[in-house]
Amino acid sequence: LLEVKDLQKQFNGHQVLDGVDLQIHQGEVLVIIGPSGSGKTTLLRNLNFLEHADSGTMHFADQTIDLGKPSKQQVQWVRRHTAMVFQNYNLFKNKTAQQNIAEGLIYGHGVDAKTANQKAAQALKNLGLYDRRHYFPTQLSGGQQQRIGIARATVLKPEVVLFDEPTSALDPELVGTVLKDMQRLAENGQTMVVVTHQMWFARNVASRVAFFADGQIQEIGKPADIFDHPQKQRTKQFLNALA
Ligand code: ATP
Repeated sequence: LLEVKDLQKQFNGHQVLDGVDLQIHQGEVLVIIGPSGSGKTTLLRNLNFLEHADSGTMHFADQTIDLGKPSKQQVQWVRRHTAMVFQNYNLFKNKTAQQNIAEGLIYGHGVDAKTANQKAAQALKNLGLYDRRHYFPTQLSGGQQQRIGIARATVLKPEVVLFDEPTSALDPELVGTVLKDMQRLAENGQTMVVVTHQMWFARNVASRVAFFADGQIQEIGKPADIFDHPQKQRTKQFLNALA
């Protein structure tokens, strides 16, 4: 569905992405694990042009995009067909739960306000958060905010949802509810790329796990292969440090 080749990105002379090759298959949950500060967030942000790569190629659906100089239309097209869930939720503080979900439909996808609000209300019903629909983010728990962040991303029916450490800002007891929402999405066939330190999720929900370090995907495979039979020393070191 989506493939990047030789993706390069520097910050101040520091090569954070050093020739990343990655394929994302339709309907899969690709989990990216790796050391802190290694560039996993940067990789996700380059996939949907929140940041611009120095060079590389993207094939997405039937488009081929030069990541070093994408056209405006290509950037818009990719943004329209992907959605991001952020570590710190990034909800609009001055909008209610329902408005946060409806917003992208109205302004990004040209849906009329009434229909958008109906869809947002339905999404909240599905989450069991309908009674919170008029609450503002500060009146919601971190877990509820993130579940709304996920609803906001998925209501747009993106081809791919990119999750950037979606549970790392949450109190431990709230992590489970968010991971359950993600698991349900996965079961419904949503294509997902998930950067996470939640190894339970990587092992049990991922279709494939990629180990990212030193600017590249070091190893990629089925969860059992990566966790139980890692091939590279770098992967073994990382996994041993977690144990
Ligand atoms: P973590 O798991 O801790 O969130 P990460 O693997 O997601 O880490 P990134 O956030 O992608 O890592 O950061 C990778 C490197 O790039 C870091 O050294 C960071 O300081 C640097 N970096 C990220 N964004 C920028 C930026 N906008 N300007 C300069 N340097 C940046």
